[in-house]
Amino acid sequence: MILPIVAYGAPVLKKKAVDIPADYEGFDALLENMWETMYAASGVGLAAPQVGLGLRLFVVDASPFAEDEDLTPEEQAQLKDFKKAFINPVIEEESGEEWAFNEGCLSIPDVREDVKRKEALTISYQNEAGERLTESYSGLAARVIQHEYDHIEGILFTDKLSPLKKRLIKGKLNNISKGKVRVDYKMKFPLQSKKR
Ligand SMILES: [Zn+2]
Repeated sequence: MILPIVAYGAPVLKKKAVDIPADYEGFDALLENMWETMYAASGVGLAAPQVGLGLRLFVVDASPFAEDEDLTPEEQAQLKDFKKAFINPVIEEESGEEWAFNEGCLSIPDVREDVKRKEALTISYQNEAGERLTESYSGLAARVIQHEYDHIEGILFTDKLSPLKKRLIKGKLNNISKGKVRVDYKMKFPLQSKKR
């Protein structure tokens, strides 16, 4: 089932999410819905708060990035297979130089800005079998994880912009909250006035 993606301005996007209990009811269905919702919106990642749930869960499929010709064959191969659900993740460590990448977000349609993040990270998480794993990522794979991880910490990429950039896009962000944006997937806007 495709779920509506909540837009910029919704309180759930600003809250730190909580761990999913082992006995959480309907987890399999939720995960399936998140995959379906992400693909329907042509996203490379989707976090639970983006479908209105303050839970520490996100899904990633970075395979569209594998087409990027600027990448080495090794990086392309890594991204091609990078499809994963991260349950109750914890970023243990970030390392390397900060680098800028033009990011977008399904909750903030039509806004793209350069965001600086560190090159590499180590993350621990539970897989769908309930096993706790620890893995390291770098480059674009790390980038997607950092963006989605921020969602479960209540942080959006627009929070990381300079005060000037924030001022410049303020009007656009307000319009998104009100639903005044063209988008070709299902969304829920926090400040949309009820239509008759
Ligand atoms: Zn996002």
